[in-house]
Amino acid sequence: MTDPLAAYHRRVSEFRLGDRGRGVAEIRSKLTGLGFLDGSSAVLEPDGFDAALDRAVRGFQQARGLRADGVVGPETYRCLDEAHWRFGDRVLTYTVNRPIVGDDVATLQQRLLELGFDPGRCDGIFGPATDAALREFQRNVGLTADGTLGPGTLRALEQLRRTVTGGSPSEQREEERLRRNGQTLTGRTIVLDPGHGGADEGVSGNGLFESEITYDLASRIEGRLGALGVTTYLTRNQEAHPTDAERAQFANDVGAQVFVSLHHDAISNSSASGVACYFYGSSMPGRASRSAVGERLAELIVREVASRTDLVDCRTHPKSWELLRLTRMPAVRVEPGYLSSPSDAARLATGEFRDALAEAVVAALQRLYLPEHLDVPTGQFRIAALAG
Ligand SMILES: [Zn+2]
Repeated sequence: MTDPLAAYHRRVSEFRLGDRGRGVAEIRSKLTGLGFLDGSSAVLEPDGFDAALDRAVRGFQQARGLRADGVVGPETYRCLDEAHWRFGDRVLTYTVNRPIVGDDVATLQQRLLELGFDPGRCDGIFGPATDAALREFQRNVGLTADGTLGPGTLRALEQLRRTVTGGSPSEQREEERLRRNGQTLTGRTIVLDPGHGGADEGVSGNGLFESEITYDLASRIEGRLGALGVTTYLTRNQEAHPTDAERAQFANDVGAQVFVSLHHDAISNSSASGVACYFYGSSMPGRASRSAVGERLAELIVREVASRTDLVDCRTHPKSWELLRLTRMPAVRVEPGYLSSPSDAARLATGEFRDALAEAVVAALQRLYLPEHLDVPTGQFRIAALAG
């Protein structure tokens, strides 16, 4: 499949503090439009990358869960480009060869989801699933099912939005359970699941064994959660290696509110690296379902890890694995780093890096319980502040 974003990768080089040129002026204008730069103050050199622009870039990167390094490379540029599209600004439709990408597409996906249609992930890319969901919506409200978001369909979406709140009934129930008893982690019960164990070492590479790292990482997370007043259980000790069904049963039995499984990846290609997270989702025809809370936690974890470490963001993915299907609470499986990657493995070998991973997972859990308006930029939670 062709990468719809390939054009950006070709067009954009990097811009950073001290650079100048038309590209810098464009970045300045985009960030001003998005409110990250004060448009009213006079700028001596609009095409110069100055300290104020550097701060604005870092602020934008943080808000988007990017690495806040102040450098506008292809990924930051792509996000800048996507961010300036507001819902209703342009006609949206499925273009096969080069899908439309932008925040307005993500808003459309969110609205469709709220109304019970399934546009796939809210990834801001207008793909076939969004096309199918939009046509389905149009059929439902008696519009021509042309898969195009024009003024008529936009109006219908806005009208319905006022009468319907929240997502599907099952997602609403999941959200209600999540928020019951307040907006903090304190008093919750969380099960951590270090993958493999005992005779089952999992994958290995560069002198590291998956079962040992997952156990160590789980212990570091457990310590931090304990300090925050969270009741934390591990699914195994160092010797045991329960089945996935047994791990899920354990979490159900102790009444866990959230389940976090820890694994690492390894493949024959040593250049593969990064962090990915999986949540429950199945897309069987007519029986599509997914855990909305699980998906949100997966996204929070990947974003926290990617912004606190330099692991590549390998995104979140729905899976109907037994572990995710049998657990009755929001569950994720996070895979931070490839043991087959010399650079990922070198990082994973250090306690300092494992601490950063543990802090990222705890911050994501904390963030899960916060309503969005109280949230702070990705990468900003510090454990000390949380405990205070
Ligand atoms: Zn594993």
